[in-house]
Amino acid sequence: MVKVTVCGAAGGIGQPLSLLLKLNPQVSELALFDIVNAKGVAADLSHICTPAVVNGYQPANKEDKTAIVDALKGSDLVVIPAGVPRKPGMTRADLFNINASIIRDLVANIGRTAPNAAILIISNPVNATVPIAAEVLKKLGVFNPRKLFGVTTLDSVRAETFLGELIDVAPTSLKGKISVIGGHSGDTIVPLINVNSDIASKVNKLSKSQYEKFINRVQFGGDEVVKAKNGAGSATLSMAYAGYRFAEGVLDSLAGKPTSTTTVPDSSYIYLPGVPGGKELASKSLKNVDFFSVPVVLENGQIKSFINPFESLKVTDDEKKLVETALGGLESSIKQGSSFVQGSKL
Ligand code: ADP
Repeated sequence: MVKVTVCGAAGGIGQPLSLLLKLNPQVSELALFDIVNAKGVAADLSHICTPAVVNGYQPANKEDKTAIVDALKGSDLVVIPAGVPRKPGMTRADLFNINASIIRDLVANIGRTAPNAAILIISNPVNATVPIAAEVLKKLGVFNPRKLFGVTTLDSVRAETFLGELIDVAPTSLKGKISVIGGHSGDTIVPLINVNSDIASKVNKLSKSQYEKFINRVQFGGDEVVKAKNGAGSATLSMAYAGYRFAEGVLDSLAGKPTSTTTVPDSSYIYLPGVPGGKELASKSLKNVDFFSVPVVLENGQIKSFINPFESLKVTDDEKKLVETALGGLESSIKQGSSFVQGSKL
């Protein structure tokens, strides 16, 4: 019996993500929480003939806390795509403050109601919202770093697709052969394509400019979608797919299926000092930056171990330079996230 809760289930990401979760036979209960239209989405999905029982939870008013508590009660896995898109006249700082408050309050509810759940954070800016979640859980005394995941899978999904096009191999065959580490925005995203694998000879044939264009496309792929949607939003469907791919790994691990160790597993943005060997990685190779995306091996819904890219994967000098740049951006986002919580009341 596995209960999954989606917070922000009626949104652009939330709806297709909930659809994909409804199709997973391991899910017995799917709780859809949103401040609007959760019941409508739930009614719609509930007609699909798969085992998951779907319920919608929507607060009657701002003071109503029962909907979120009922949605979270007994949950094994909580996925959070909740947030607000940037509206005309809003600055990035305005957006940060709104999404930061949404994450802070949702995670506080998770900490109080479902402290054992694995938490997958999709809401942006992930580089800062995951530190917010960690800080909230620490304040509540229930932080389990093995169960807090920033979802960075869309970067891997894009890297596989774009590299597949470039070296003319099926993108599906690249899963587990390349890896993306670092953070989840712009130049904090570090694709590693020289991981020891049978595509190395094709990767080595790329020109410097092809390589640089590829890195840029993975780092700023989200902008292509924003531009193409022309005011109607950002990546939602590909994000839902990516979020589901990571959630499926967590569900598989809950069902006793271990993460494959023959290929590189998907990365996640995690609190390194909370997992064995993480503190050492942060101090030795990451200038003590505590949150970083690395490939994670899962067991029973939590991180069993991670793969140290600098020891187990081939990281080239070019890739090391990308890491160096990423660390600066990560450091300031992490600081922004944790000081936001320190200055707020839970
Ligand atoms: P995206 O494209 O990132 O999915 P949307 O605006 O389409 O962005 O979806 C975000 C969803 O998050 C919306 O359905 C919105 O109602 C929901 N949401 C906003 N605030 C909260 C909150 N505090 N709790 C749960 N859901 C929320």
